[in-house]
Amino acid sequence: MSDKDALDQADIETLAVRAGQLRTHEGEHGEPIFTTSSYVFESAAQAAARFAGDEPGNVYSRYTNPTVRVFEKRIAALEVGEAAVATASGMSAILSTFMALLSAGDHVVSSRSIFGTTSVLYSKFMRKFGVEVSQVVLTDYAAWEAAITPQTKLLFAETPSNPTNDIADIARLAELAKANNCLLVIDNCFCSPALQQPLLLGADIVIHSATKYLDGQGRCLGGAVVGRAEHMDEILGFVRTCGPTMSAFNAWVFLKGLETLSLRMAKHSENAMQLASWLEAHPAVEHVFYCGLPSHPGHALAVRQQKDFGGVLSFRVKGDRDQAWKVIDATRIMSLTANLGDAKTTIVHPATTTHGRLDDEQKAAAGITENLIRIAVGLESVGDLKRDLERGLGAT
Ligand SMILES: *Cc1c(COP(=O)(O)O)cnc(C)c1O
Repeated sequence: MSDKDALDQADIETLAVRAGQLRTHEGEHGEPIFTTSSYVFESAAQAAARFAGDEPGNVYSRYTNPTVRVFEKRIAALEVGEAAVATASGMSAILSTFMALLSAGDHVVSSRSIFGTTSVLYSKFMRKFGVEVSQVVLTDYAAWEAAITPQTKLLFAETPSNPTNDIADIARLAELAKANNCLLVIDNCFCSPALQQPLLLGADIVIHSATKYLDGQGRCLGGAVVGRAEHMDEILGFVRTCGPTMSAFNAWVFLKGLETLSLRMAKHSENAMQLASWLEAHPAVEHVFYCGLPSHPGHALAVRQQKDFGGVLSFRVKGDRDQAWKVIDATRIMSLTANLGDAKTTIVHPATTTHGRLDDEQKAAAGITENLIRIAVGLESVGDLKRDLERGLGAT
């Protein structure tokens, strides 16, 4: 049995460490970083054949790079997709998908509770190119259905949602997409393939901000799109032409990150579960949003659809914005930053940062109250994290 056949049968933990592995004639064990912009041909005839696409091989790193290729193969294997395209950031993964698969006059239905910059992409830039986006409540399937028009080409959702952990039934959205000749695109950033594999549930395309859990240590920006070869060819065409390419160095960092993905996601989930349960019982806390808690409306679906519940939770303190800010400012271990998916726990006040662009009505619809705090739970000792929060909570 060759290495390749062995990996065809492999579990996700093995794929995360080994899928797509490349070894040059030097016999290196770690993946090599190809820091080169272009590639040398052996003859004029070979150059002509490479440019014409008659011979496979490298031409220029905006087109292909061996280190980036390993990352693409590995993330495709983890998401169980035919192919993947790496991009310079999560936003360029979303942009490249839209630019490659949509035309002026097309329509998109998207969940409302999505990454803030994705909303800006819809309202400021996609509209400029004649693509309209309707946004609906993630879990309101009647609203999804009602928003679909004959022009609708894509359904786009993030589940679990940020920051309240609402859970959409991916298989149900996939059925709706299929019945209406649309593609279902899932931003799988919060779960990573270690916890949720949307393509296996019927989604057509998965998007990642590799910046978050795929790296896992807050080192660099990157993104990926995974799906069927016919769609990935179109998206690759956009990336090659327009240039939101992943760098070889960043691809190498993500390969190192992926090696520990399953371990990290298990620990992020375990820490978040313990912190959420502790917060739910805390007298200074009004409500906790974490899909791992039986009290969460999406809990049963998350149990069915996800392997675990992930690292992001949010909670409302008793009181107003002052109380929330007091708790945040009293922390000494957690980092006050909007990023997530890092070994370091981060804490943020969504109403005035990540979701500050929303108007009052949109905030109310998304559950973003002034007393809401989001925590992306890292890999520190959960006892220390509780003590860090207790400083501020005890004082409220
Ligand atoms: C961060 C994030 C993005 C954007 O990714 P960047 O790498 O920052 O461009 C998209 N979707 C979700 C859910 C995110 O958390």
